[in-house]
Amino acid sequence: MNTQRVFFLVWIINVCSSQPTGNTGFFWQVTDFHYDANYSTKGNPWKMCHDSSEGSYSNSIYGNYQCDSPWRLILSATAAMKRLHPDPDFILWTGDSVPHVPDSTLDLQKNAQNIGNISLLLRSVFPNTSIYPVLGNHDEYPADAYPPPIFPRSVQSVLHSMVNAGS
Ligand SMILES: [Zn+2]
Repeated sequence: MNTQRVFFLVWIINVCSSQPTGNTGFFWQVTDFHYDANYSTKGNPWKMCHDSSEGSYSNSIYGNYQCDSPWRLILSATAAMKRLHPDPDFILWTGDSVPHVPDSTLDLQKNAQNIGNISLLLRSVFPNTSIYPVLGNHDEYPADAYPPPIFPRSVQSVLHSMVNAGS
């Protein structure tokens, strides 16, 4: 192991183990779970994943970079959050819990169920922490329908770009 790697490893350990002191605090920001209830380790990634452009196509139990998240990956991520910082001051949950799938396979009820699953998980893992959720462009139905038409077209264009930047 060379010196740079050792330094980097020590830095990572130091950052991960640092605890808030005095007037400092800690919060989690989680985003883009894109939970896909239909993810399967036996599925064909060229047909079931949102990005079929290139890459390694072996669907592990924790997912595939080209696919949206299986439930097991989300459980693992939230368990890691709890292990690293079990008592944050608050959690910012910045949306996009719904998978990148065609609108024809979703509806308002399915989106609400997907968001509800993530909400219940975060609440069960962090029962005493304030969670501040916002909706992402995939959480609405149909997807990418922001902003509402009450805004002038120029404002809609800017807001639409901001929303899509987080996709
Ligand atoms: Zn997203």
